Amino acid sequence: MGHGLPVELNCLDGPVSTIDFESARRRMVERQIAARGITSPRVLEAFLEVPRHLFVPPEQRVYAYQDGPLSIGLGQTISQPYIVAYMTDKLALQGDEKVLEIGTGSGYQAAILSLLASEVHTIERHPELAELAGRVLEGLGYDNIIIHQGDGTQGLPEQAPFQAVIVTAAAPLVPPPLLDQLAEGGRLIMPVGGRGGQLLQLYRREGGEIRREDLTPVAFVPLIGEHG
Ligand code: SAM
Repeated sequence: MGHGLPVELNCLDGPVSTIDFESARRRMVERQIAARGITSPRVLEAFLEVPRHLFVPPEQRVYAYQDGPLSIGLGQTISQPYIVAYMTDKLALQGDEKVLEIGTGSGYQAAILSLLASEVHTIERHPELAELAGRVLEGLGYDNIIIHQGDGTQGLPEQAPFQAVIVTAAAPLVPPPLLDQLAEGGRLIMPVGGRGGQLLQLYRREGGEIRREDLTPVAFVPLIGEHG
């Protein structure tokens, strides 16, 4: 996909500048993701490919490759690139998985997952965000992502089981339906905790048991729904 053309931007207090988004993306991958220990070539390749600037509102594009989260409207955010990469890496996708994401937001995380798995189902509770993400993903030609609008805390029983589940909004507990819909050998990652801050937790279903690993502190917007 050719998204690397220089784009002209009018700066309020200076001359027109030219931003090479492809170079900015390469720097993001090198300095924010690889330098912090993510080494999987497939994961790094996916971050090099997906044009993050097209998933943020036009006025935020200039910041798209910076080392932090950005606002996408309706009080919601697109997460910091490193956190998206960290969570993706922990799912250890091989390419043949059916993945469930809760919290489509901008659609950026879904785009990354779609390059690493065979099918991505993503659920967003805000109809406006679901629709906008759908338009961006369709425009960019991602054809293995299915967006569902609704309460993601219920999961998608009709599509279960999933080899990987990623929740990109926080709650005090993992919604039980999501663990129920995890396949044998599957992995689920989610920020768990209160509104002040959470811990990323990784769950694995192994031999009929669910094992939990505590990872790193994070701050996510809340998961709002029946099991949120
Ligand atoms: N993954 C997104 C991306 O790549 O842009 C970022 C997600 S943002 C941090 C969290 C999203 O979860 C918000 O868009 C919010 O509306 C959504 N959300 C919160 N509760 C939800 C629920 N019960 N079901 C589905 N989406 C939910």
